[in-house]
Amino acid sequence: MDVRNYKFWFVVGSQTLYGQEVLDTVDARGREMADKMTKSGNLPWPLEYKGTVKSNDEILSIVTEANTSPECAGLVVWMHTFSPSKMWINGLVNLQKPYCHFATQYNRTIPNEEIDMDFMNLNQAAHGDREHGFIAARLRNRRKIIAGYWEDEDVQIRLGNWMRSAVGACFSKQVKVMRFGDNMREVAVTEGDKVEAQIKFGWQVNTWPVGELVEYINKVTAQEVDELIKEYAELYVLNTDDIESVRYQAKCEIAIKKMLERENCVAFTNTFEDLHGMEQLPGLATQRLLAQGYGYGAEGDWKTSALTAIMKAMATGLEGGTGFMEDYTYDLTKGNELSLGAHMLEVCPTLAGHKPRIEVHPLGIGGKNPPARLVFEGKPGKAIVATLIDLGGRFRLICQDIECVKPIYQMPNLPVARVMWKPLPDLLTGVEAWILAGGAHHTVLSYALNAEHMEDLAEIWGIEFVHISKDTDIKSLKNELFLKDLAWKLQV
Ligand code: MN
Repeated sequence: MDVRNYKFWFVVGSQTLYGQEVLDTVDARGREMADKMTKSGNLPWPLEYKGTVKSNDEILSIVTEANTSPECAGLVVWMHTFSPSKMWINGLVNLQKPYCHFATQYNRTIPNEEIDMDFMNLNQAAHGDREHGFIAARLRNRRKIIAGYWEDEDVQIRLGNWMRSAVGACFSKQVKVMRFGDNMREVAVTEGDKVEAQIKFGWQVNTWPVGELVEYINKVTAQEVDELIKEYAELYVLNTDDIESVRYQAKCEIAIKKMLERENCVAFTNTFEDLHGMEQLPGLATQRLLAQGYGYGAEGDWKTSALTAIMKAMATGLEGGTGFMEDYTYDLTKGNELSLGAHMLEVCPTLAGHKPRIEVHPLGIGGKNPPARLVFEGKPGKAIVATLIDLGGRFRLICQDIECVKPIYQMPNLPVARVMWKPLPDLLTGVEAWILAGGAHHTVLSYALNAEHMEDLAEIWGIEFVHISKDTDIKSLKNELFLKDLAWKLQV
């Protein structure tokens, strides 16, 4: 399913006590609000009015439909009037889609002269939303609560932000990861429980032989490669005479993509330790596939690969890129400490601050031919890095706020794409916090998403979330991790 086809359903709660006239007004307003919010341009996906519900059966029926509708990415509910919440129990215990309680009201202000008991009966969201909030709390339902006036841009933007997390969680259920080879030998953090990941996130993580990819590579025609090389020439600066190496990467791109499409996979992994029959480690090929929205994790890192695909889906339509990243080395100049992120090859060109160059350089490890790759500098700006780790029995999502800068050195002999940043609150505290929380060396870096997107995604998934921000101090983080460890043990 194309991410752009998702929709959200707006469900308004009420009851039959107020008579048909009130219900007709509620119905008309629910429709008007959903239409206006959709047309505002502030919601990344449409909010479709799905009806005013007044009974256990109506609520259960909408929930059942939402659960099985592939296009419904979540419910946004609001109580225009009072809606006794025992009638919501059977629906809410069965709800499998992301759920947002929108605490708003139709009118912005109280009409001083007109307000009477009829007005009070029709407009009692303050009252109805509390009754609804209680039942979700009683059921321990995972939810987002957004309070604010529905016509306000900032409120619509918050709703739109939550939609991204909800789409991430729905998209997650269809994620299939194609693994070429296993994990890099002896590495711990790229391991994890694939069965638990499928139970929690819906991911199907499976392996295909590298030999099959080699057969696909060998079948790519010269004409297919010619066409792709034309596209490369338009998008990138060709900074090499070694066209044969570039053509080999084009073959890899075409072959990997054909296999991904054949199996409906949206993400893949490989490892330089298992390239049997291949001439180069895919560099340019992987960067190109990342730019097309595929997830990727190096060294067999299927968790980061799936997370990259999901975060790219969440960022649909936003400015700023999202891609696979790795902390490589620090600059510890006192007072201006920075981290240099890169990878052997596979940095997504959506992170680039300028037109990338295609270059061919030897790779120190893997024992294959020098691979073609895109070389560029990342752009400056606010961003996040996110990582998903398996702590044994549960997953933890860690997100750190970072500020990317234009790299302070030219680094003319560094043959890979690079991004330079300052982690918050500062490099040293940020590094201590990241290490304390167990964050991986692989991350997903995104200029488009923020920590709230990731926190809401963790909420929908029902997993632990740790945010390292400008407010982080090590003492409180230690305490937070200790308490979360106890709490999450009880939940498993
Ligand atoms: Mn790596």
